Amino acid sequence: GPKLSLDYAKELNAQQYAAVTAVDGPALVIAGAGSGKTRTLVHRVAYLIESGVDPSHILLLTFTRKSAEEMLERVGALIGSRSQRVCGGTFHSVANMLLRRYGRVLGIEPGFTIMDRGDAEDLIALLRVQLGLNEKDKRFPRKGTIAEIYSKCENTLRGLEEVVLDEFSHFADHLEALGKLQRAYQLAKRQRQLLDYDDLLVLLREVLTKDEQTRLTISQQFRYILVDEYQDTNRLQAELIRKLATTHDNVTVVGDDSQSIYAFRGATFRNIMEFPSWFPGATIYKLEENYRSTQPILSLANEIIQEAPEKYTKHLFTRKLDGPLPALVEAAGEHAQSRFVAQKILELREEGVPLNEIAILVRSSFHSFDLEIELSRCGLPFVKRGGIKFIEAAHVKDLLAHLRVVVNPQDAVSWHRVLMLVEGVGPKKAQDLVAAMVRMTNPYQVLRSSSGRSGKGLSALADVLENLTVSDDLSPTEQVNRVYEYYLPILKDHHDDYPKRIRDLDHLHTIAESYPGLTEFLADLALAPPDGSASEVEPVGRDDEQVVLSTIHSAKGLEWQCVFVLWVVDGKFPSVFSFNSDEELEEERRLMYVAVTRAKRHLFLTYPINVYDKSSGMLLSKPSRFLDHVSPQVFETLALIEEGHGHDWGRGYDRYI
Ligand code: ATP
Ligand code: MG
Repeated sequence: GPKLSLDYAKELNAQQYAAVTAVDGPALVIAGAGSGKTRTLVHRVAYLIESGVDPSHILLLTFTRKSAEEMLERVGALIGSRSQRVCGGTFHSVANMLLRRYGRVLGIEPGFTIMDRGDAEDLIALLRVQLGLNEKDKRFPRKGTIAEIYSKCENTLRGLEEVVLDEFSHFADHLEALGKLQRAYQLAKRQRQLLDYDDLLVLLREVLTKDEQTRLTISQQFRYILVDEYQDTNRLQAELIRKLATTHDNVTVVGDDSQSIYAFRGATFRNIMEFPSWFPGATIYKLEENYRSTQPILSLANEIIQEAPEKYTKHLFTRKLDGPLPALVEAAGEHAQSRFVAQKILELREEGVPLNEIAILVRSSFHSFDLEIELSRCGLPFVKRGGIKFIEAAHVKDLLAHLRVVVNPQDAVSWHRVLMLVEGVGPKKAQDLVAAMVRMTNPYQVLRSSSGRSGKGLSALADVLENLTVSDDLSPTEQVNRVYEYYLPILKDHHDDYPKRIRDLDHLHTIAESYPGLTEFLADLALAPPDGSASEVEPVGRDDEQVVLSTIHSAKGLEWQCVFVLWVVDGKFPSVFSFNSDEELEEERRLMYVAVTRAKRHLFLTYPINVYDKSSGMLLSKPSRFLDHVSPQVFETLALIEEGHGHDWGRGYDRYI
């Protein structure tokens, strides 16, 4: 056999070892949180390479680019630099790469533009105006909803009618208009080399379906496919895996149906259940030891998930028997909650828990505003994960739009954005210009020949952009620079708080430095945007000295010594909006399960009471219903006696609106 540098049997338990060393054929690892699923994949990649598999023949698919990077780093730590040639990333980033290479068979140029959700919505809005669809109708779905509907169709492989009637029946009257708009949207994207997130997957499937030769080539390229967090894949992604594996069926997926938290985006844990029928002969591995958490934390987690009607029953045990009980903490209001968390963190730090081993998890990113102020007041540095992305800020989008039209002059959405920034250009003028430009081979000619109040501005714009187009030897940093110089006066005109925004643009500049070309830079920003805004995150001290503040969705797969889960109050978690749907309630329950299973040793669930929720008109006054049936000895309860109750009530009222 191969000469191995690692003693795999020592690093892994028997089941993990079996899954790691079974070289060929399909395999499914289904197991609960913290049982070493991700660790199994990491070791499997290492083992394959050590057994002589060429690293470039291995494809590792993960939910975020960051987790792919972290996993490959861990492979590197096990067996050294050979791991660098493994292809790792998200479904979208891999599809992006393959389409730039093989998309021509469908008429997709390698320089295509990736639209993020905001761009997609803008294009939909533009087309709706162009088609004159129900413009005055207030009950027509908003652009965000329309984009969501179209996306659901793609990700769940269902037709428009089915999706609308099933999930958006209150828009059933608009079905015809939505269909018309959908066709226009598809056409506009194709004509202009614009791909939204779903297109990346849909078109890759089309390439793999229509072009037999390409399918064989790609399948021979990726001879071993590994997928983490399989419970959060959708139908389309499952199909892609099957097609990618067409010549070998060497697919290892790991997942936990109890942690499926992306059903709202079309994911389905049924992919796990049905894996054996998609890949006949699949070996199933179950992992039963939890290595992450202490028994008290595991007991709480088990009791929460036990109530779920649909689950693959798992029996998890841990050898870490001792540890503090999870605490359920009642606070008199939001601010009392924030103060408790900050004080507790200060205490834990005194006890020697490093700040980067502490995480604060929230269901929605805006649930942490008050806490952020409190942390800053106490001098506790934090980093934010999830929530509003830096790239979604208007000024960042403005600057990027200029670069995007340089790469893809057909990009009508970006043109529109760029033109609207020119003095004297309104929506009508912008649309006319865009319409004229996409018909012409030289869009700059159109800008220069435009007369009127905006003539001078348009010529100046043409000069800058044309210059960038012809000088293709410029580095992305230099290109960002040129646009920045042009854009700065506009920024100052539009925003009083421009100094803060300039820092974001500087941040963009720094990111650009690590890219060889503008296309790669723009694609990566759209696919794996950096978290948080530079102006928002004030780095105090080094990265590893910061508390992590994260949405639960972004905490998937991670672990910390100490975890706080905020707003564990009925009405927020689960949200009132899920009360009427069993499916949504169950998804919220799984989300709670994910949250509590991130903790290794300390777990605090906090809930402010007597907070008025304006969206529902409800007074929130009891802890989450997911704790209703948990035995009382499983956690310790704490009620904070706080002065200033009235004040808290006021804050809660103001804020949680
Ligand atoms: P999740 O469902 O949350 O994604 P997971 O099943 O992927 O969890 P891992 O993150 O791989 O679990 O493992 C949880 C922790 O347990 C990690 O710190 C990991 O290193 C450790 N661990 C897993 N298996 C073993 C083992 N056999 N020996 C020692 N430590 C282990
Ligand atoms: Mg994992």
